[in-house]
Amino acid sequence: MPRKFVVGGNWKMNGDQKQAREIIENLTNATLDPNVEVILGVPAIYLPLAKSVLPAKLELAAQNCWKVAKGAFTGEISPAMIKDIGATWVILGHSERRTIFGEKDDLIAEKIGHALDSGLKVIACIGETLEEREGGKAEEVVYRQTKAFVSAIGDRWSNVVLAYEPVWAIGTGKTATPQQAQEMHACLRNWLSGNVSPSVAELVRIQYGGSVTASNAKELAGSPDIDGFLVGGASLKPEFVDIVNASS
Ligand code: PGA
Repeated sequence: MPRKFVVGGNWKMNGDQKQAREIIENLTNATLDPNVEVILGVPAIYLPLAKSVLPAKLELAAQNCWKVAKGAFTGEISPAMIKDIGATWVILGHSERRTIFGEKDDLIAEKIGHALDSGLKVIACIGETLEEREGGKAEEVVYRQTKAFVSAIGDRWSNVVLAYEPVWAIGTGKTATPQQAQEMHACLRNWLSGNVSPSVAELVRIQYGGSVTASNAKELAGSPDIDGFLVGGASLKPEFVDIVNASS
């Protein structure tokens, strides 16, 4: 079965009610390739608003969650709450969560496990820093990050999308070349084949993220192991439509 192209828009901590409505309205009116799954990662506070205007062709993701269903965790939201308002995905392990908020592999794995237990689907992010890449450690780092998720995911890989986002490419305007991205995606698939199973390696969708724009999306989308994008800055702009349609 071919892997369905999947494009996520990660709004991060951007937008207000007006802009949230405008972005969704723009996507509602746009012609989007029906063969592409489109997921909007909206700030938690705007998820109910987004849900209230969301057309059936779009899905909704939270950008983070905590690892238990409820309790004394001031400021956190649970997968149960995300599901309750009608969102179906959560983005976990984003490099900003890792670097700014100190989230480590083990915590991210626990969150992934609990989100999947709760019936959410997960965009699980991995990616090396510039220092790690320049030190020749890029592959080692993404393998370590992926390995940390394996037991939490178990046999639920069909509910997981991996997002390879080299940290040096996020929000910098410095995109990985299609060759660099394809090479890492192929390495990841190969690693999954050896460390999880050949069938998981074949089915799991691996998104590329890091300064994806309408002008570089088409070339990236042409790479055989790139199954979609996780888009930050450009997901707030009308060009997101072209990114969604880049694989057709
Ligand atoms: P960017 O962000 O597209 O703005 O580089 C990508 C991401 O952080 O998911």
